[in-house]
Amino acid sequence: MHENTTVTKIIRVDRNMPAPAAIREAASIIQSGGLVAFPTETVYGLGANGLHSPAVRKIFEVKGRPQDNPLILHVSSPQQAAELSEGLCDMAITLIDKFWPGPLTVVVKKHPSIPDEVTAGHPTVALRMPDCPVALALISASGVPVAAPSANTSGRPSPVTAQQVLDDLGGRIECVLDAGPTGIGVESTVVDTTGEVCVILRPGGVTREQLEQVLGSERVRHAMEGDRQASPGMKHTHYAPRAEMWVVEGDTGAVVQEIIRLTEERRRGGHRVGILATDETLQHYTADVVLSLGDRNDLSQIARNLYTCLRQFDLHKVNVILAEGFTREGLGEAICDRLYRASGGRVLQAEEELS
Ligand code: AMP
Ligand code: MG
Repeated sequence: MHENTTVTKIIRVDRNMPAPAAIREAASIIQSGGLVAFPTETVYGLGANGLHSPAVRKIFEVKGRPQDNPLILHVSSPQQAAELSEGLCDMAITLIDKFWPGPLTVVVKKHPSIPDEVTAGHPTVALRMPDCPVALALISASGVPVAAPSANTSGRPSPVTAQQVLDDLGGRIECVLDAGPTGIGVESTVVDTTGEVCVILRPGGVTREQLEQVLGSERVRHAMEGDRQASPGMKHTHYAPRAEMWVVEGDTGAVVQEIIRLTEERRRGGHRVGILATDETLQHYTADVVLSLGDRNDLSQIARNLYTCLRQFDLHKVNVILAEGFTREGLGEAICDRLYRASGGRVLQAEEELS
């Protein structure tokens, strides 16, 4: 365990117009090798000077992050991205033109100036320009690329509020810039642009359909087993609440019946059961804790609420979480990916009853 020996300064800022003095204060912490948690449009990040090895090592230390999981460098312009790569390829330039600033991270060949700690020794680096005025102002004022994974203890759900950052890292980092809840709620899409086709290493805020619209469907594919090597983060347990979690997929009616059945079974066994429902299904359930992610047809809302709900189950100390599955279309792919990882791959198919 780490000792909490640092006083974490909380600086409240306006998301769209952060006070210059607040940004200067946070930037000076980055420049002097400290850690600053800051909002982006996806989740809160834990930032450090991305060109300074000791500062980058601190990120791994306070998060308890495995050393072999490389970090994303956050930039404030496409020009800065070009300087951190060995020349951007056409595919990267096309994607950057279309999706930056925004929730797309491009993996490109790295410039020799980037420390090995950032890339975990890989010849490539992950780059992103976030769509959040606070983040962009911080990166600009720091004058360096900001290395930033999500600002949570490794393995836990990513934080979407400053309070969730403090719950995990309070007393271990110098500062958090608090601009209220983030907009998207799940992380960026990570794509490898170093090959012939664009490989989705992690689904996220930019959907596969959006990538296909720009590149053509034949130039976009998902990572396969052999690609895992290229995205070390994929093999680690992620986004996990403390309880054992099961995802139940299938036709909504059958899913509800199966979750009711499992709830009764588990409660008879003496477990405290939490259910992750949606507005449409909420009224069908009785359990120790029942939370709704929102309107099942509004995937943006579901994504925004996902990590907060997972953290709430921890506060309620349930032992089992039963979660409804979602469509894999659009943002649904990122939602299903996070549910899959949070559950450690415990996914059940609800069978429709024959009448
Ligand atoms: P995080 O910042 O923790 O949300 O995760 C960043 C993701 O980007 C992880 O899944 C990393 O494995 C992935 N990533 C970062 N750098 C690289 C890289 N050079 N090549 C492939 N994947 C990367
Ligand atoms: Mg993370």
